[in-house]
Amino acid sequence: MLKKIWNDPVGSKVISWVIIGVLTLIGVGIKSSYDEKSYYETFVWLMTFPIPVYFLLVSITLLLLLRHWFKRKKQFYNAKQRKLRQFNCSDDPEQNIRTEWTVYFGMNGKPYISDLEFFCLEHGEAPIRLFGNRCSHVGCKNSILKFNEFELKNYFESLVLNEWNKLNK
Ligand SMILES: [Zn+2]
Repeated sequence: MLKKIWNDPVGSKVISWVIIGVLTLIGVGIKSSYDEKSYYETFVWLMTFPIPVYFLLVSITLLLLLRHWFKRKKQFYNAKQRKLRQFNCSDDPEQNIRTEWTVYFGMNGKPYISDLEFFCLEHGEAPIRLFGNRCSHVGCKNSILKFNEFELKNYFESLVLNEWNKLNK
């Protein structure tokens, strides 16, 4: 729950300010008892305290680093895996077919592809998803298409594996 709010761009700012606020109030409390002054006096002293610029810069940097670290921890895939996952589609200019897939990683750490989808690129801007391995547009050259999905899956998975090997060289 806290992580969810933290990862929310607005929520994380609110949390940051709440943390800063609470720490400030605690700090004022400690300082006032240490100096044997009233809480209010110490608060005014702090508010009018000239803060060195480097202190501000260091605090902001630390906060940003902390956030960055939190975000990094959230990532499920490591950098190489994320890079490989971007290789998720391929166009066949001859047949005018686009293949899309998702890259996953098995228990053995090796990538495999799933969720294969094929699109016909013959129809202007929006690629039309093939239905039953063929384009549903009447008269389209890909409407009489016949291909073996398992063969294609194996083919594209081989390309993905090859990319993975290159990334890990
Ligand atoms: Zn078509």
